[in-house]
Amino acid sequence: MSDTENRTEIAELGEFGLIRHLTQHFKPINPSTLKGVGDDAAVLDYANKKIVVTTDLLVEGIHFDLMYVPLKHLGYKSVVVNLSDIYAMNATPKQITVSMGLSNRFSVEAVSEIYEGIHAACKKYGVDLIGGDTTTSGKGLLISITAIGEAEAGELVYRNGARANDLICVTGDLGAAYMGLQLLEREKKIFLESPSVQPDLENQKYIVGRQLMPEARRDMLENFKSWALKPTSMIDISDGLSSDLLHLCEESGLGCRLDESRIPVAEDTLKMAMQFSISGTTAALNGGEDYELLFTIAQSDFDKVQNHPEISVIGFMTEPEKGRKLISTGNAEYELKAQGWKAF
Ligand code: ADP
Ligand code: MG
Repeated sequence: MSDTENRTEIAELGEFGLIRHLTQHFKPINPSTLKGVGDDAAVLDYANKKIVVTTDLLVEGIHFDLMYVPLKHLGYKSVVVNLSDIYAMNATPKQITVSMGLSNRFSVEAVSEIYEGIHAACKKYGVDLIGGDTTTSGKGLLISITAIGEAEAGELVYRNGARANDLICVTGDLGAAYMGLQLLEREKKIFLESPSVQPDLENQKYIVGRQLMPEARRDMLENFKSWALKPTSMIDISDGLSSDLLHLCEESGLGCRLDESRIPVAEDTLKMAMQFSISGTTAALNGGEDYELLFTIAQSDFDKVQNHPEISVIGFMTEPEKGRKLISTGNAEYELKAQGWKAF
């Protein structure tokens, strides 16, 4: 942590002083936020909207490695992954809470960097920080973020709404965040073995950026609204395309045919995959952390998405008896399996 020259112990401020210091620049902007930080509980007014809630717990050493994850990026990403879950319901995030377990390894300056990232994400996505909790932890850093959002009842999109013959669509490209992680892990190992060798990540900005600072697809919800398109089912890709597509199949009680040749993989991702002797498809299927939206639409809606450069139609849903299949570029049929890397 880059805090050797300018280090304020958390104990100097105390818990309340720290919270005040961290949250002073957060001013609520959403009308649904009646009371934010500073009372025993936050107060929200959602009138007759449906409320969507999601939470994530991130543990140092399991979900992130501070050897190569800058604290500001950690704060940003922690928020974005939660907002992505709200968008995947076709809902709009409005508030977050942030809870942290901090050890005395962390200075006030270090925690402030995390909050700079949190602040940047709040600003970019228009959400209010409305509370949280702060406690000490033995050694590592823990961050838990809860996001709250809204939707009209008829707007919500679940994992279970797909029908046979619906088209499977995905936004952006896949596998980049995974290859970014592989690269960072490799460079970390090299650095630990010979600290004089500085990693050169300059040419790998795309995949490293996708790993360290992902974005949530708010733009797609805006597109869906303007096209009067309601996906029949939707999920965000956090565990890898295969695992997350299987979730849609499972919840909707369907099979699928996924066309390998249509899976979008960026050039930089392909190049790095080659260095690691895996295919771009493997990175896309089993990598994860893309935070792209995977959704199904009725065939009659095809014309709404077909010309969008950021949406790929990668297959279609089938009756369950047909199974869950990956059709390779060589036209061979494989069973689609979830190999997404799991924390457990
Ligand atoms: P309590 O003792 O009632 O739990 P706290 O002292 O923990 O209250 O929190 C005081 C206020 O600061 C509350 O509004 C709480 O939501 C907020 N808060 C506490 N920790 C954080 C944090 N890490 N980030 C943002 N807000 C926080
Ligand atoms: Mg508390």
